[in-house]
Amino acid sequence: MKSNTRVLFLAAEADPFVKVGGLGDVAGSLPLALKDACELDVRLVIPFHGAIQRKAFPFKRIASFEVPKPGKPIRAEAFQVDLHGLPVYLIGGAPIPPKAPVYTSDPSVDGYKFTFFSLAALELVRRLDWAPDLVHANDWHTAMAIYALSLRRDQDEFFQDTATLMGVHNLPYLGIGAGVALNAFGLPPAYGSALPWWAQDAPFALGLLAADHIVAASPTYAAEILTTEFGAGLESFLKTRSETITGILNGINQEKWDPRNDNALTVRYSADNLAARMENKIALLQELDLNPDPKIPLLAMITRMDPQKGIDLVPKTLRKIARQRWNAILLGTGVPEIEDAVRKLETEFPARLRAAIRFDAMLSRRIYAGADVLMIPSRYEPCGLTQMIAMRYGCVPLGRATGGLKDTIQDSLPGQPGTGFLFERPHPVDFAKALRRALRIYPNREEWRTIQLNGMRQDFSWDRSARQYADLYQSVINRRKGFAPLPRKDEP
Ligand code: ADP
Repeated sequence: MKSNTRVLFLAAEADPFVKVGGLGDVAGSLPLALKDACELDVRLVIPFHGAIQRKAFPFKRIASFEVPKPGKPIRAEAFQVDLHGLPVYLIGGAPIPPKAPVYTSDPSVDGYKFTFFSLAALELVRRLDWAPDLVHANDWHTAMAIYALSLRRDQDEFFQDTATLMGVHNLPYLGIGAGVALNAFGLPPAYGSALPWWAQDAPFALGLLAADHIVAASPTYAAEILTTEFGAGLESFLKTRSETITGILNGINQEKWDPRNDNALTVRYSADNLAARMENKIALLQELDLNPDPKIPLLAMITRMDPQKGIDLVPKTLRKIARQRWNAILLGTGVPEIEDAVRKLETEFPARLRAAIRFDAMLSRRIYAGADVLMIPSRYEPCGLTQMIAMRYGCVPLGRATGGLKDTIQDSLPGQPGTGFLFERPHPVDFAKALRRALRIYPNREEWRTIQLNGMRQDFSWDRSARQYADLYQSVINRRKGFAPLPRKDEP
């Protein structure tokens, strides 16, 4: 790969500036890996959210310019900061008010903010006279950059050779309701396109329509989005693009997630002294005021409390295995009704279940280091990071066989240790069956240890995924030269 290949990476959030979910992890680590492992000239652009402005990064103001908008252009300010040698640009302006959260629940507000951001990011690189070979946008918040390029590229010499890649981290969030904002910035609906009528002004759908190529967060998710169960209504359209959809697994930052030097733990450990892990379990049981007998398996969840994550299946499932011995800790926040159900479950199992309804990064680390099983019963999981983190910490993941969970967890049967446990349907019957299987193997310490060690030895580093991205970038850039116009409805 040429080291001077220029990639403009756009995202709504990026760790360590601001992180709301897994997208923040990805945007904060993939561009760095692309720079370090693949020597690409990557620039990351994110909005200058209030939460970032309040942090003490050494931001430098680099440009002030107007973002075109019919009627009245809007002024944008751009700042720059260095992240381990990666140039990061932050875009500020009236549509990104300092007091607003990263995401609101109002698509028209978010639509306006992120359309402004997406168009400003393109204007910024024009200002800097840095023409990207490829724009990699992620999820609906930045899809407008790809759509805008597809509409304007032919008349815009600066972006004429710029290829586009649409990253899919969470398809159902299409940005429905943001159409008015798009229109306000001169981006019309794609009437007559191959998109279903109701999605013709939805930013994500437009990005998927217009991108030269689409990349999903895991190979299995890339295939799943072509089906009714996972396609968010776009499956028929996406099938017309199946030749230009690839799946690449996310990685994790293996330095940030490392039980050998994690300060949050009671005792640090590695695959070479796994026995030391037990002290973390005992300390965690004490912290949670649970029965401190370390022979009782400790089940855990660390999750957004959202139907996507299948956490609403947990009450029925645990009742099904109530006669067996276990302790459980459920950490997360989210949908109030699910939070309430989890609190209720704590009153149902007061001696052995704890509900920690909050976002608590330190506790999450102690759970990865002390729990025996991490439950991930997701209805859909584009990639998922928690199963990879769990394996790195010797906590055995038990997940639904979907998306990235299917691609990263190898199922275990008695006498056939894999790296975790999988079940098929998002249903308490299947979920409980898998838990029973895990609980049956658990007392066999040697076999359990093998499953733990198999997981700890997996390579989930970003380097491997970054190389796949770099290869994909190059092929998309090459293909751009002979790229066909947007698929129309009347075409096969
Ligand atoms: P998603 O992005 O869909 O929420 P992922 O599995 O990709 O799910 O990433 C979730 C990330 O957020 C992981 O790093 C996980 O440890 C962290 N996390 C989720 N909920 C909590 C919580 N309540 N407290 C601390 N960390 C959490």
